[in-house]
Amino acid sequence: MPPKITPELTALQAQCNREAVHAPGAIQPAGCLLSLDHELAVIVQISANIEQVLGIGVSQALQATPSQLLGARLINRLRQELQQRERLPGTLTIHRQINGCRCRFRIIAYRHRQRVLIELERVGGMTEQRLLPAVNEWLTRIAGAETEDTLLQLLVEAVRSLTGHDRVMVYRFDADWHGTVVAESRSEQASGYLGHSFPASDIPPQVRGLYLINPVRSIPDATVAAVPLVPAVDPEHPEPLDLSPGVLRAVSPRHLDYMCNMGVQAALSVAIQGDSGLWGLLACHGLVPTSLSPLVRDAVYTLVQMTTQRLFLLKSRDETAYLRRVQECRELLGEAQTGFQEPGELLQHRSKEWLDVFNAGGVALIHNGRICSSGQVPPKDELSRVGAWLNAHHQGSGVWCSQHLASTPLSDVCGRPEYAGLLAVPLPVDAKQRDWLLLFRAERLKSYRWAGRLEAMSQMEDGQRILSPQRSFETWVEEVHEQSDPWLPREQRAALDIGEDVTVAILVKAISDLNNRLTQVNRRLEGIATTDALTRVWNRYRIEQAIETDIGLAVRLGQPLALLMLDVDFFKRINDRHGHEAGDAVLATLAEVITRTLRDNDCLGRWGGEEFVILASGCGLDDGKALAERIRRAVGATDFGAAGRVTISLGVSQWRPGDDRKSLVERADTAMYAAKQGGRNRVMVEDDQGSIP
Ligand code: GH3
Ligand code: MG
Ligand code: MG
Repeated sequence: MPPKITPELTALQAQCNREAVHAPGAIQPAGCLLSLDHELAVIVQISANIEQVLGIGVSQALQATPSQLLGARLINRLRQELQQRERLPGTLTIHRQINGCRCRFRIIAYRHRQRVLIELERVGGMTEQRLLPAVNEWLTRIAGAETEDTLLQLLVEAVRSLTGHDRVMVYRFDADWHGTVVAESRSEQASGYLGHSFPASDIPPQVRGLYLINPVRSIPDATVAAVPLVPAVDPEHPEPLDLSPGVLRAVSPRHLDYMCNMGVQAALSVAIQGDSGLWGLLACHGLVPTSLSPLVRDAVYTLVQMTTQRLFLLKSRDETAYLRRVQECRELLGEAQTGFQEPGELLQHRSKEWLDVFNAGGVALIHNGRICSSGQVPPKDELSRVGAWLNAHHQGSGVWCSQHLASTPLSDVCGRPEYAGLLAVPLPVDAKQRDWLLLFRAERLKSYRWAGRLEAMSQMEDGQRILSPQRSFETWVEEVHEQSDPWLPREQRAALDIGEDVTVAILVKAISDLNNRLTQVNRRLEGIATTDALTRVWNRYRIEQAIETDIGLAVRLGQPLALLMLDVDFFKRINDRHGHEAGDAVLATLAEVITRTLRDNDCLGRWGGEEFVILASGCGLDDGKALAERIRRAVGATDFGAAGRVTISLGVSQWRPGDDRKSLVERADTAMYAAKQGGRNRVMVEDDQGSIP
């Protein structure tokens, strides 16, 4: 990130960062300061301008008691208020007759070590009656601002109309504390800084720290000398007083130089605090001294507070809208999962939304070593090197990202302008090797319009290089190349969410593929387990199952059931004459012929050797006999090739109450045996009593 701060400059900056700006030992002449002992009984130090402010000489004031100088009522009140507190809650206003005229004073009081410090400021200018309606009107407009730009513009215009400064700006700090002017209102005489950046060194860390203690800093006149304290040193506590909680603290000489170089004679700044610290500053400049009533200063503070609240409300609205978009994207992904898409398909279907939500130019998915992509991404071989590098160098489940790939070890792989930035999301699909979802952003040429050149800020003095305040505020444009827009934390979080969904989608797809394969294998296994390998009809195990099932139906529904047992006549002879293989061929042809002859709901199974069983559900003895005859004739009419003609003998039994599989088969077998005995090539049916005639 610019500017290019050299180590030497950094060291010089550290030096000036140590300046004790909080305890300058003097005040600005816009009011006077009193340091009292902790019981508010003795005046220890006063500012040398006490006479101009209160009309009482320094030595006279130092001899008086606080009650004599400021009134017993006020001192008692302060004693009470400061009993348990470090500072007066809010402010007090008192009236005093000075040189015959009635003056109003604003009082701020705070404890510092053993002392109580009291600051008095003259209240003048606009009265509350005139100020309030104007402030209210601005507040109403601020409360209604719908965008960040209009909101900040309203603030700068409101403040300038109330304070009369020549230039009112809002600065926003970036991650490196460089400030960029994002809103500005200015008079014709004042030069414009809108869009310009001010280096972080303009507001050193200890000054930024002061804004956390006291958010308002007013310098109504940078041309007048600071007012010292009398005596200059506290006799009991010689360390300088910490004046940071007050409003009168004298200005650091460095800052006076800075203002002078910028042509500014008055300044007012108010901190804009975000949830995570200083977000920015409201900065007002006067080309001439610009006195500021404490009432107006308070009004500006209120306006900044209201603007800040509105600003963060708008930001959180924006955040919510973004999260909603991410959510929509996730819902779409959820729907896609029901279709069990291949990772590549998933990417093709979703890439448009992803590129949109992440404001990216290209997206790639590395899954199982395979790469699919959409939009502007590096070539595949480079993408796989990116995946390998990430696997080797990025641990954990978080994202890896860079807006400036050219400055990372991936520069040789993919540091080109079309993909200058990368957000990589690990997908924990596999325990050993992670897959990656990669989002690429193109280079975004950016120019910083610096108000002054940082290199020009160091100078030689007495043979030593010192860091001087900016002298030139002429615009110096610095072009930033090779970088994409940064990956915002919310985008990184959203990418992790999407990554999780993609992981689930990939796993769901893998599981569904596995399931499909398992189902196929199961079907094949089932076939093998129930089919006779030679004849392709059911085997003994399967036909026995079928007999059991049909007997069950007969028992429950009284459905008739006939069982046919058949055996090839003189099969041994066929084997003997034509060989075993020819015998096998006869069995296979026989099974085919029988299958063709059967009705749809009849079942055929090989019982063993050259014996077969036919289960004819819904058939009584007569139908069973007719079926048996049909089969016998069909076989008899078939040409078995080398084996010539083949005959079969059949026995038919029917289910009767009390029958189980064994008894039913036994009777069919007996009937078949009787058919053999009767001369073969015939059907024998048991009689109505289940006996063989
Ligand atoms: P019957 O008319 O009395 O039934 O005479 P058969 O010759 O058919 O009777 P037997 O039971 O004596 O012979 C059956 C023969 O079937 C014996 C056996 O070698 C043969 N056989 C059994 N299984 C197979 C087989 O899978 N393939 C072949 N080729 N032959 C088989
Ligand atoms: Mg046999
Ligand atoms: Mg036989």
